[in-house]
Amino acid sequence: MNYATIKNCDIANGPGVRVSLFVSGCTHHCPGCFNEVAWDFHYGEPFTQETIDQILEMLAPSYIKGLTLLGGEPFEPENQPAIVDLLIQVKKKYPNKSIWAFSGYLFDKDILSGRLGPWNVTEKFLGFLDVLVDGRFIESKKDLSLRFRGSSNQRLIDVPKSLKAGQVVLWDDWQGSGREMK
Ligand code: SF4
Repeated sequence: MNYATIKNCDIANGPGVRVSLFVSGCTHHCPGCFNEVAWDFHYGEPFTQETIDQILEMLAPSYIKGLTLLGGEPFEPENQPAIVDLLIQVKKKYPNKSIWAFSGYLFDKDILSGRLGPWNVTEKFLGFLDVLVDGRFIESKKDLSLRFRGSSNQRLIDVPKSLKAGQVVLWDDWQGSGREMK
């Protein structure tokens, strides 16, 4: 996997101050995409253990509430294994920091269908997530007043509750900061 950018102080993509990893590679090609350069799987830098160590270090301060994965497309089959490797190390070191991901794929129709690469990898990825913001960016539904979303079709999904319930449960922890506040 390659990655485009890492932000060490992001307040736009999840609750609180977060570290954000923008991975490279996205096959959705939404018109009006905010990050078109990252459609190319070869864009940016190779994602290595050194990159993971850098992210672990960025996550250390207590004011950092968690890690957000976006792109590009974190759920592309090409990107999932490296992200799972990252999340294993993040959760081992920081079990109380929340994990958010943004995906153009739909949670129920695409991700849970098991068609995005080996299911055991996708299942592990989902097991680490607190919140998934799903759905492609749709320019005609763009709404700048929405928190953590670009267009109104996108959903903020509480992943642990949804997996338990067997149906989509929306995230409503607006006062908290993810896992830490529960
Ligand atoms: S899913 Fe995200 S990164 Fe991919 S094309 Fe759509 S807006 Fe851009």
